[in-house]
Amino acid sequence: MSVVFGCSSCGAPVESEPGSEVECRRCHATSSLRPAAEQLESCLACECAELYRHRDFNQKLGIFLIFVGIVLSLALSSFWPLLLAAVVDFILWRILPDVAICYACKAHHRDLPGLKRIKPFDLERHEHHRFVKAREEGKIPPRTEEG
Ligand SMILES: [Zn+2]
Ligand SMILES: [Zn+2]
Repeated sequence: MSVVFGCSSCGAPVESEPGSEVECRRCHATSSLRPAAEQLESCLACECAELYRHRDFNQKLGIFLIFVGIVLSLALSSFWPLLLAAVVDFILWRILPDVAICYACKAHHRDLPGLKRIKPFDLERHEHHRFVKAREEGKIPPRTEEG
């Protein structure tokens, strides 16, 4: 079990186990995680109740593999390297585990019980949390009376 989340002081990514504390390497502030419940239901870093499930797949690696496939295909005038890259991408995607990500603070929860029950990514919820965050940071002015 591990959770990667933002340091409570400077926001740099830190990694810890549920129910323990971690010292930030950048600013040396201590951030703590709540202990894991029997089933993962809310973010252990910020207590937001909305998480989504995502394949723990490095998209940059996936794109890199396809890129290498294209370059080799062009160099060798053959489509086999590209096909092979696509197959490797697909296999990686299939065998990699899921990760639960918090909509609000983007904490990544790995290898926790109940992860399979988390719903997949929902753009509407994502936009909602983005809007709430922007408003909290003062990027969007509070609603005023019209007329
Ligand atoms: Zn920090
Ligand atoms: Zn969170």
